[in-house]
Amino acid sequence: MCCPNCNKALLDKPKLVVCEAQCGFKIWKTVCEKTLTTKQVETLVKKGKTGIIKGFKSKAGKNFDAALILQDKVTGATRFEFENNR
Ligand SMILES: [Zn+2]
Repeated sequence: MCCPNCNKALLDKPKLVVCEAQCGFKIWKTVCEKTLTTKQVETLVKKGKTGIIKGFKSKAGKNFDAALILQDKVTGATRFEFENNR
């Protein structure tokens, strides 16, 4: 898995995936109380988007399903995409 920002290797840490060159790219593995699998993180990095992931939990305590989009390839910031918004 390579950093989409600088093409160096990404290090798979327990809580996040982070660029070995410390260019600033990182993806937190736990999003809204849901821990992403390595495969989901890989898909996010390689394709810029995951499939629908089930079991996120909002701050209000509601469960929801959504895909994750890699919004910013420099910082690794992500956002949700909901099925019914398509
Ligand atoms: Zn990098």
